[in-house]
Amino acid sequence: MSEWTGGTRSECPAVKELRDALTVAVPLLAADPKKIGTIRNDGSRHTAGLAMDIMLDSRDSVEKSVADDIIAALVDLHARMRWADLIYTDWNGGKPFYFHIPGMPPFGGPRGMLKKNPTSKKLGRQHENHIHVDWWSGNPTTWPAHASTKGFKTALVARLQQPPQWLVDYMRTVP
Ligand SMILES: [Zn+2]
Repeated sequence: MSEWTGGTRSECPAVKELRDALTVAVPLLAADPKKIGTIRNDGSRHTAGLAMDIMLDSRDSVEKSVADDIIAALVDLHARMRWADLIYTDWNGGKPFYFHIPGMPPFGGPRGMLKKNPTSKKLGRQHENHIHVDWWSGNPTTWPAHASTKGFKTALVARLQQPPQWLVDYMRTVP
């Protein structure tokens, strides 16, 4: 049984605006628009237009640092963006930590909303080479109200264009 049976939709307003913001603010994504994937005809939340895959490989140090900065920005701006869930992979000494970050009910986990919670190995292994973020609510035929969230692009672009915290910290140590 497919999780979405409402037919192939176009990108919901929130996904569309996220794509616009990332394309403006992240040079790696601007240079290769194919790194952002949304609609996919497989009866999933992607078919619904409610999800985005950002192809940044967690095993590539450059792509991983860009991905980490995007995830930090998405968490910082969650109150304005109202995404539902995010999945990606961290590596600790060569071992994967497969995590999801719940943003809205019904998602959640032992470590709480907007925190990295462990996810299954099966799901995690599919998310070593991309960030998945969605506005999915579990309804198989209807978009949730938060899929229509708009108006965060300017704030997100500004946040993504700030230097990452490690660089700010490093620059303080340079005489
Ligand atoms: Zn996905």
